[in-house]
Amino acid sequence: MRNVIILGSGCAGNTAAIYTARAGLKPLLLMGHEPGGQLSLTTDVENFPGFPEGINGPDLVENMKKQAEKFGAECEWGTVSEADLSSKHFRVKVEGEWIHTRTLIIATGASARWLGLPNEHKLIGHGVSSCATCDGAFYKERKIMVIGGGDSAMEEANFLTRFGSEVTLVHRRDQFRASKIMLDRARNNPKIKFMTNTTVEDVYDVSKNLVTGVKLRNVKTGEVWDQEVDGFFLAIGHIPNTKPFVGQIDLDEDGYILSKGGARTNIPGVFHAGDVQDRTYRQAITAAGAGCMAAIEAERYLEAEGH
Ligand SMILES: Cc1cc2nc3c(=O)[nH]c(=O)nc-3n(C[C@H](O)[C@H](O)[C@H](O)COP(=O)(O)OP(=O)(O)OC[C@H]3O[C@@H](n4cnc5c(N)ncnc54)[C@H](O)[C@@H]3O)c2cc1C
Repeated sequence: MRNVIILGSGCAGNTAAIYTARAGLKPLLLMGHEPGGQLSLTTDVENFPGFPEGINGPDLVENMKKQAEKFGAECEWGTVSEADLSSKHFRVKVEGEWIHTRTLIIATGASARWLGLPNEHKLIGHGVSSCATCDGAFYKERKIMVIGGGDSAMEEANFLTRFGSEVTLVHRRDQFRASKIMLDRARNNPKIKFMTNTTVEDVYDVSKNLVTGVKLRNVKTGEVWDQEVDGFFLAIGHIPNTKPFVGQIDLDEDGYILSKGGARTNIPGVFHAGDVQDRTYRQAITAAGAGCMAAIEAERYLEAEGH
């Protein structure tokens, strides 16, 4: 029986591991399918406090892991496929084996949706991004493209006009899911050019390890053409990694964990941390802060239960 199991090795999970390990709780952290979490996909992180010169994303999470291990956290490979939270002794199934714990910190994140273009993944962190707040500042006076038709695409496009010389918003239909107010705001922004009925076929140029352009297709006319682009931002949503907890804990309609205040879920002893619950801020620092909150809640819960 473990005191604490932490699911996820992003900023939230690693921070929860640092705190619970320093509190002597010997946490087990399961890294999941994406060790290091979303920051493992990126290059420069310029907005994490404490690094005036910026820091490489994978280095940042690796440092957090080392810090947690220094205090006694066990970080292991493994993805939870199933959870049983029906009794006070929680169980999670990892690679076919059930392990037991008194508290569970769910820090499984939310994965950005990608288009699935042939070269998209190879250029993440080199011009392809899913986070305008994170990467917009790298594209000052550059050509930016945003993909999507919902509120977040409008918000990201508006935000990116602070940096780019131009922002092209590409959407596969001519109807938008975005609310009227967000759509109007984007339409009234002189720096945003709308390109509707258009899909992206691929992004270039892997040989330069840099985004230089995209291949586009007009779905009505079938016309295909290349366009120069420096920053390629996906704003087509995120998928919270909560599949093992469906029917076990309260989730919202999109599958994000519903918070009961602080880091609490509806089940005492089960806590949330980071992007798996946060659909608003989605930043490394907010995820790390949430990991700290979950750890402190877990410590207090165990204390109150006499452990
Ligand atoms: C390309 C890119 C660039 C970014 N740049 C910045 C930036 O510059 N600055 C910034 O502040 N933020 C940035 N972000 C956002 C930041 O990375 C996230 O907000 C942060 O990583 C969220 O941390 P998290 O720990 O909540 O989740 P994640 O980082 O998503 O980690 C989730 C973890 O859960 C694990 N997991 C998932 N399912 C399971 C399971 N069933 N069992 C066990 N483990 C599981 C995964 O393997 C992963 O380790 C960027 C994001 C992306 C995608």
